[in-house]
Amino acid sequence: DSFDAMGLQENLLRGIYAYGFEKPSAIQQRGIVPFCKGLDVIQQAQSGTGKTATFCSGILQQLDYVTVECQALVLAPTRELAQQIEKVMRALGDYLGVKVHACVGGTSVREDQRILSSGVHVVVGTPGRVFDMLRRQSLRPDYIKIFVLDEADEMLSRGFKDQIYDIFQLLPPKIQVGVFSATMPPEALEITRKFMNKPVRILV
Ligand code: AMP
Repeated sequence: DSFDAMGLQENLLRGIYAYGFEKPSAIQQRGIVPFCKGLDVIQQAQSGTGKTATFCSGILQQLDYVTVECQALVLAPTRELAQQIEKVMRALGDYLGVKVHACVGGTSVREDQRILSSGVHVVVGTPGRVFDMLRRQSLRPDYIKIFVLDEADEMLSRGFKDQIYDIFQLLPPKIQVGVFSATMPPEALEITRKFMNKPVRILV
């Protein structure tokens, strides 16, 4: 039960320890390795369990840092949560040189477009702004290989269902999908059935 035993890149481990984590939480112990293998993972977990670092580590481990193309997309229900995920991703990926950008409503569209065109590895955002960036072709989906829905139940209860489906339609086929949700209402189960391939289920 240590981060050292997970087969993570040295520079990712450095980021994890520099952030102040010493031992993986229960969800991290069970979730990071399957996520790093590229498997689809459903994690039923409340916030406070360490879910953010689970998918951030899983993403950071798998990115190609030689090319600066968006390879991972994370959706979250609120601006605040998206920006918080952006910070964690940036901190854990500090020694890897990861470029992350949060695309959220209430900020400048032009600024988002400028940053996206300058090149990022990961986009974290709320469904509305992310869909807008895809629709304008400011965010190119071609290299995206990992799609994470954080607080899926919360996104659905905020009415983001159609936008999540619209976004999914624009992504390449056969991408890795991670779904994190405290509860699994029917609409969340439907997403797991439609978007995921033989998902691993982890309950904490
Ligand atoms: P989350 O569930 O991702 O919102 O994380 C909840 C809180 O737990 C955050 O403040 C994290 O920084 C903290 N945390 C997550 N993983 C660990 C860990 N392995 N060791 C110590 N704190 C952690």
